Amino acid sequence: MKTITTIDELKKWVRKKKHANASIGLVPTMGALHDGHLSLLKKARKENDAVVMSLFVNPAQFGPDEDFDRYPRDFDRDHGLAEAAGADVLFAPTTEEMYPTQSRIAIHAGEQAQVMCGVSRPGHFDGVLKVVTKLFHLTEADRAYFGQKDAQQLAIIEAFVRDYDFPLTIVRGETVREEDGLAKSSRNVYLTETERMEAPHLQKALQLGTALYREGKDPIPEMTDYIQHHTSGKIDYIELHSFPDLHGPITNEAALAIAVQFGGARLIDNTIFKTKGPN
Ligand code: AMP
Repeated sequence: MKTITTIDELKKWVRKKKHANASIGLVPTMGALHDGHLSLLKKARKENDAVVMSLFVNPAQFGPDEDFDRYPRDFDRDHGLAEAAGADVLFAPTTEEMYPTQSRIAIHAGEQAQVMCGVSRPGHFDGVLKVVTKLFHLTEADRAYFGQKDAQQLAIIEAFVRDYDFPLTIVRGETVREEDGLAKSSRNVYLTETERMEAPHLQKALQLGTALYREGKDPIPEMTDYIQHHTSGKIDYIELHSFPDLHGPITNEAALAIAVQFGGARLIDNTIFKTKGPN
């Protein structure tokens, strides 16, 4: 595996691959890798001739009071894991390399960013779209891999790619969980021992909510009670939306999503399910 830190070098590598007619898969990450990231990487490995994993803690997607400075960073560990999972390139630029000048043009996520995390993290999805635009262009990827764990991000990126004709396919990866059901996340390391024991209740609340929805009930009040009884966290939101539109009446698929703020970690999780038939 080759580590590349500059845009020039990345472009040279991409040009060579394109010249050889190789397909390129991209897995964007902020590092602190876990099995969720690695499952996307393994999928990309199977479906492409060459695979780039990017590792960049993107300041543009963090609010001023968020955890950019203390976000877990361990380059050597990430390097080992990415190499073992089959990446050809680990693209790990500095902030100055990615954003050498102040951008004069902003990208704004649309209506899909006006719910869920878009409300509590204003500007977050604009920052995500900024970095993925650059990564899509720089890597000339044929496919880019994103986890359903971040369902709103996935929905917004899919819409962005469709609206603006980016010449690549977005591939969805299922949420990878710990044995007790907690969705893997780089931020789980912030949890205290007690919070870590409470955290699997997010998934349990989602399961409860899905069952209630299927019985024709509003899942939100009971899920709220459940989380308040079983965790010490503060609910940021519990929302049910049509997926991937995230607004308007629920049609084929729904996303039930939850965000809970614990002492040092804000955890999110969701389930996406067909509204009719088994699933
Ligand atoms: P991050 O490093 O948190 O920005 O995540 C990079 C990519 O990994 C995003 O597409 C996430 O949706 C995905 N991801 C994060 N956690 C998981 C998980 N538990 N299962 C599957 N994909 C995940």
